[in-house]
Amino acid sequence: MYDVAIIGAGINGASVAFELTQKGKKVIIFDMNGVASGGSGAAGAFISPKFSKAGELKEIIHDAFIYSMAFYEKNFPHLLTKAPLIHIAQDEKDSEILKYYKEHTDLKLSDEKNSFENETVSMEAGIVNAHGMCSAMCKSAKFVNSKVESLVYDDGMWIIDEIYSASSVVMATGAYKQVIQEPYIKLRGIWGHRIDIKTTTENKNSLHQFVSISPSKDGVLAIGATHNVHYHPESSTEPYDVQEGRAELLQKASRTIDLENVEIIRDYTGLRSGSFDYMPLVGSLVISKETLADTNIKFKTKKPNFEEYSYYPNLYMINGNGGYGFVLAPYLAKILSENILSGKKISDRVSPARFFARWAKKL
Ligand SMILES: Cc1cc2nc3c(=O)[nH]c(=O)nc-3n(C[C@H](O)[C@H](O)[C@H](O)COP(=O)(O)OP(=O)(O)OC[C@H]3O[C@@H](n4cnc5c(N)ncnc54)[C@H](O)[C@@H]3O)c2cc1C
Repeated sequence: MYDVAIIGAGINGASVAFELTQKGKKVIIFDMNGVASGGSGAAGAFISPKFSKAGELKEIIHDAFIYSMAFYEKNFPHLLTKAPLIHIAQDEKDSEILKYYKEHTDLKLSDEKNSFENETVSMEAGIVNAHGMCSAMCKSAKFVNSKVESLVYDDGMWIIDEIYSASSVVMATGAYKQVIQEPYIKLRGIWGHRIDIKTTTENKNSLHQFVSISPSKDGVLAIGATHNVHYHPESSTEPYDVQEGRAELLQKASRTIDLENVEIIRDYTGLRSGSFDYMPLVGSLVISKETLADTNIKFKTKKPNFEEYSYYPNLYMINGNGGYGFVLAPYLAKILSENILSGKKISDRVSPARFFARWAKKL
């Protein structure tokens, strides 16, 4: 019997495994294709804030950026490469946003000169070794390489595939099919492609403009990533066109930096998992049938009270990080672990219950 079972060993599941094992909990983690085999294994894993004017997403990524940089540096310094980040405006409108950003942010910016004509923001940021980080975080948990097909709650515990049992379950399944399906939980899979290239061009900084370009190490640098909403590995009839993805990445990178003697040495592809309001989903899952049957609850209200809803016992999810999984995961895992271990409230802005409230209102 385990304290917590986690389904999915991407950066979300791995971060929760790390938090809970650090607190002495007995954790089992499942992945159907191995550690970091989903979106996390494809990620360039750049750690950066969101350069926009305002909004809830910008705020949470800002807080997560500060938290996660310190977290990675403290716990896994060998898997974090710190490097100056230069974010370059794509056009006039973007320049205005960056100017506004620079005037209002409390992050420490660098005033070192650079040769880019467009407006830029520079700061110290980082890049994580994606696969190494997920593996290191899962190390103190029991890892099982298998697909979880069934979850049954019986006599105060969750039975997983009729073999394993745990007091609590965390679903960290990214853009894949949810193990427990609820009609109000809808996630978009956004296909991404990135490449490692060999080049004689030396690059010292992380450059973010039309794509992200990493600093070079031993003549190799990473370029990523595409955002392809038309291709999905489970529903597309045509195979993914790798050549087209490569051409797009090189063309976009070349608008920022001249790359000489390029040889593509590796492709990475995977799905990001995004929610429909772009904010992550962290916390307990509402049982829609039971909650809808409660005649005391008003669903057509502007101010829903999430505490009135019925929830699956000790069942949680962490998902919907979009293109910021490596920035958000350690921060969200801390919030979720505190909720699991001591009942600390999770903000309504990330609670999956907000999607239930919107869905139920429309019924
Ligand atoms: C090309 C690309 C580049 C990116 N670049 C960056 C970047 O620079 N910076 C950044 O912060 N983020 C980046 N991202 C986004 C980031 O990778 C994602 O936000 C993150 O990987 C999401 O992690 P996750 O753990 O939620 O999902 P995933 O990594 O997809 O993990 C889910 C796991 O669950 C497993 N699983 C699903 N269902 C089951 C089941 N029933 N049983 C067992 N296992 C199951 C899957 O096999 C998978 O390994 C990028 C993404 C892509 C695709």
